[in-house]
Amino acid sequence: MIPYGKHLVDEDDIDAVVDVLRNQFLTQGQVVPQFEQALCEYTKAKHCVAVNSATSGLHVACLAADVGQGDLVWTVPNSFVASANCALYCGASVDFVDINPTTRNIDIDSLERKLIHAQRRNRLPKALIVVHFSGLSCDMQRIRELTQKHAIIVIEDAAHGLGGSYQQTKIGSCVYSDLTVLSFHPVKSITSAEGGAVLTNHKAMFERLLLFAKHGVTKDVAQYQGDSHGPWYYQQLALGYNYRLSDLHAALGLSQLKKLDAFIQRRAEIAKKYDLALADLPLKLPSVEPHSHSAWHLYMVELTEHSRQEIYQQLHAKGVGVNVHYIPIHLQPYYQQLGFKQGDFPASEYFYQHALTLPLFASMTDKEQNKVIDTLIEVLK
Ligand SMILES: *Cc1c(COP(=O)(O)O)cnc(C)c1O
Repeated sequence: MIPYGKHLVDEDDIDAVVDVLRNQFLTQGQVVPQFEQALCEYTKAKHCVAVNSATSGLHVACLAADVGQGDLVWTVPNSFVASANCALYCGASVDFVDINPTTRNIDIDSLERKLIHAQRRNRLPKALIVVHFSGLSCDMQRIRELTQKHAIIVIEDAAHGLGGSYQQTKIGSCVYSDLTVLSFHPVKSITSAEGGAVLTNHKAMFERLLLFAKHGVTKDVAQYQGDSHGPWYYQQLALGYNYRLSDLHAALGLSQLKKLDAFIQRRAEIAKKYDLALADLPLKLPSVEPHSHSAWHLYMVELTEHSRQEIYQQLHAKGVGVNVHYIPIHLQPYYQQLGFKQGDFPASEYFYQHALTLPLFASMTDKEQNKVIDTLIEVLK
């Protein structure tokens, strides 16, 4: 079966991990700060905190944004559940803004309307979490313009986005946001097995990220309440978590980061070939936005004439492991219990009914891609 996504780990990556095992601290050593530094250099963000998953990263990003009980956080239904769960972890409530049917990212007009309505009802969100679905950046400048006047904190869930760019900057630069969260799960742009990172340009938010990702404990004398008891001393200032990335994982991530641009280039090449080969089929292909270069995490098509269920099954029977992204978050039983219902976000629901994710990963061979294309042509005939 050709999978929809897969990591590409080579001998350099293995050597980097083995070097940590043989010669370095397994955790809280020097490799994590090196990885953080390299992520700052790549994205041009000022600060970075590596964490053990993007899910942890989204949680501490919300905490850094001071999201808590009684607050409201908005995100999109067309994402993985982690994009919404992070607000609930903090005791806040979640609401959604529907997607644009072309970009499949947050719909800017819906956002604008919802903000006007929320302002009237005096129920504006504390934070907005936008998702760069499939690796294509949201229109961050517009999002910043709309949210800035209400002092809404903007968090980018860039789990799909590392290696992509918006205007002239890499996703993660935080030029138009407060915080950006990355994932290094094996299907994403680069992997550390499990892992993630949070980027920001705000010094104060960076300090809060560090605090919440590390037990709420600090050894920074400047932050102490009262005097230090001596060199062994530390203080717990908040209820934090252990969301540290280990040096083993960081070594893999750091080694992978060196190959990120090559991975993205290969992904873009595969996407281009799909664009050309599938142009005449009854499919809606991914959109191209003038402001962005996609990281091509996913290559999504929408079936315009066929049943998704049938095509999915036929492709799987022939060894093509297509997938579906995403079951709208508000349709999950857990979110239905919170009061959301079918029909609330029609564009996300429509997309879910018709969407199919084709295999796309940096190590995909031409032969594998040709098989995907030929099989798709065959089943859509
Ligand atoms: C993968 C993913 C996450 C979660 O990432 P983990 O590192 O597995 O916690 C969050 N949001 C989106 C959009 C994702 O695709």
